[in-house]
Amino acid sequence: MREDKALQVAVVGTGYVGLGTAVMLAYLGHNVVGVDVDQAKVDLLQRGQLPIYEPHLDQLLQDSASRLRWTTDYASAIPDADVIFICVGTPPLPNGQPNLSYVAEAAQSIARHLDGKLQVVVNKSTVPIGTGDWVARLLEDHARDYHAGRYLVVSNPEFLREGTALHDSLYPDRIVLGSDSPVAIAQLVRLYEPLLDQDFEAPASVPRPAGYTRPELVTTSLSSAEMIKYAANAFLALKISFANEIAGLCEWVDADIQEVTRGIGCDQRIGPRFLGAGAGWGGSCFGKDTAALISIGREYGYSMPILTAAVEINQRQRQLVITKLQQHLHRLKGKRVAVLGMAFKPNTDDLRDAPAHDCIQRLVELGAQVVAHDPVAMPRARQEWQHLGYLEAASAEAALHGADAALVMTEWDEYRQLDWESALRQMRRRLVIDTRHVITNFSGQGVVEQIGRGRSGTGSLAHEVAI
Ligand code: NAD
Repeated sequence: MREDKALQVAVVGTGYVGLGTAVMLAYLGHNVVGVDVDQAKVDLLQRGQLPIYEPHLDQLLQDSASRLRWTTDYASAIPDADVIFICVGTPPLPNGQPNLSYVAEAAQSIARHLDGKLQVVVNKSTVPIGTGDWVARLLEDHARDYHAGRYLVVSNPEFLREGTALHDSLYPDRIVLGSDSPVAIAQLVRLYEPLLDQDFEAPASVPRPAGYTRPELVTTSLSSAEMIKYAANAFLALKISFANEIAGLCEWVDADIQEVTRGIGCDQRIGPRFLGAGAGWGGSCFGKDTAALISIGREYGYSMPILTAAVEINQRQRQLVITKLQQHLHRLKGKRVAVLGMAFKPNTDDLRDAPAHDCIQRLVELGAQVVAHDPVAMPRARQEWQHLGYLEAASAEAALHGADAALVMTEWDEYRQLDWESALRQMRRRLVIDTRHVITNFSGQGVVEQIGRGRSGTGSLAHEVAI
């Protein structure tokens, strides 16, 4: 990027989204400062280390280090910034509404350091419809010398997926910009020009996909942009729950959900993605965003039965895993259960709302001894899941050794590549509930049961053999 095109950017909140956004914008040539209230996180980043696991992010961080800095000090970050991103968390409250206190704190802190020139504040956090207007009000109330038309607010929802965050940020399907100010939109178009034109050199570790040309630019009102994010996540969650609902019926009628979703996914109107039947969705977004959308509807007395059902089906899938174990083992008290995979999906260490959490919790409640493994997320689980009372295994094989049953909860490549026939031989009872369809072509002795592939002993992979 030409020097004169580079903008000064501040990214407030350096979690999964903020960190990826900051590194990506610096890689594209902008000068970026990341601001976080978490001193430990900032210390790590200042030393060039990452506080999260995200493939290839370390390389891009190094490549862009000269245009990146990290601070806890708003005063050193905000006054010079042309564009300020809010990327703080919006976790769910018990009533389903998102907790907007971090957004409020960030907006107020930003406001106190705005400096009177044109500055665009961008909501990248996922927030309820109307939050953009609310942030504009906070800026007005807390800026020292508020100038109407100087401090502009844009909603720019984020669609990256953890595990492929850089790919999704560098080669997005679309960039959504919602604002009532054409000046603000123009500034963001300038910021994203390298992405829109795809004229940056693709990093070797994250190559440009063959055939990819440019993202769609979708400019909307503030409220439409905020709704787009919720509606997109709700629809994806819905697709997974739909596949799970059909999977349940497949088990009764002896159909195979893998064959069924392949058959329906070929239809371009449906598409093959997000039709994976299993233990259901998890992660920091789907549960929180579906709950938020339902609660927004409630504010207007507007029921959302499709979405409500999708959430219920997701809960049911987590219990289904336990039910399947009970069908085989009858009593879980005193049984040793290996849980393979703790992160909510592969290639991340994010444990938020991971299905494995609920399954481990339930198994322990039922008196089972749980031995868990995850190739990446174990150190984080040691801090965040202390309350669960499980044992850690150094490897998948070690977890399986002497176990009465195993649950595969995350589709890590490592589990796909495991020699399952020999691993099963190490178990006390050769029983695997593979909720992520990682085991293919199993022909050894034991039972491998997968969601939606026929009831035990009748599905293509369910081999019941006396041991
Ligand atoms: P996160 O919890 O990983 O990170 C949030 C960061 O904000 C933390 O580092 C925290 O210390 C910091 N923070 C909190 N208050 C602050 C303040 N006042 N000033 C500065 N920093 C502050 O969250 P995340 O996963 O990155 O998600 C951020 C937002 O993006 C959420 O609204 C989420 O719904 C949305 N989102 C997340 C994803 C995802 O895959 N994680 C994808 C799309 C959208």
